[in-house]
Amino acid sequence: MPIGQDQIVSINYVLKNEDGNILDSTTNGEPFAFLSGHEQILPKLEEAISTMLIGAKKEITLQPAEAYGEYREESVQKANRSDFPEDAELQEGVQFYATSPDGQNIPFTIRSIEDDTVTIDFNHPLAGETLTFEVELLDVREATPEEISHGHAHAAGGHEH
Ligand code: ZN
Repeated sequence: MPIGQDQIVSINYVLKNEDGNILDSTTNGEPFAFLSGHEQILPKLEEAISTMLIGAKKEITLQPAEAYGEYREESVQKANRSDFPEDAELQEGVQFYATSPDGQNIPFTIRSIEDDTVTIDFNHPLAGETLTFEVELLDVREATPEEISHGHAHAAGGHEH
């Protein structure tokens, strides 16, 4: 039976990029649990998991557009060192947040620094990557009313946050 809305879904996964490098995994840690139907994971990934049987394993490959988007050159911009707070430690690869006009935090990464010019990149760090998830479905259960109202899964032993 497909997994419906408001279920707690527990999985193990290994995430690899196109070159086969492991970017993330649960194999040495706790399984990952999410609340279904609340956009907690990539929609295409959730769709693929929703038809799995408990105990099954599946390899799910997502194109960039189904994952974290295409890499967009226009999302790379030049800023001035003086645009940053004076005490900000500017370094290549470091992530900062910009505040959009509607008050949202938008992450960006510093790509390079040359004199007073800072090249910043608003692409998601995984933009442009074709991603493969090796997923094992461990368990599916009904979410508790508390979990549904919080919008996330709680650990088996109680409430941890
Ligand atoms: Zn909670």
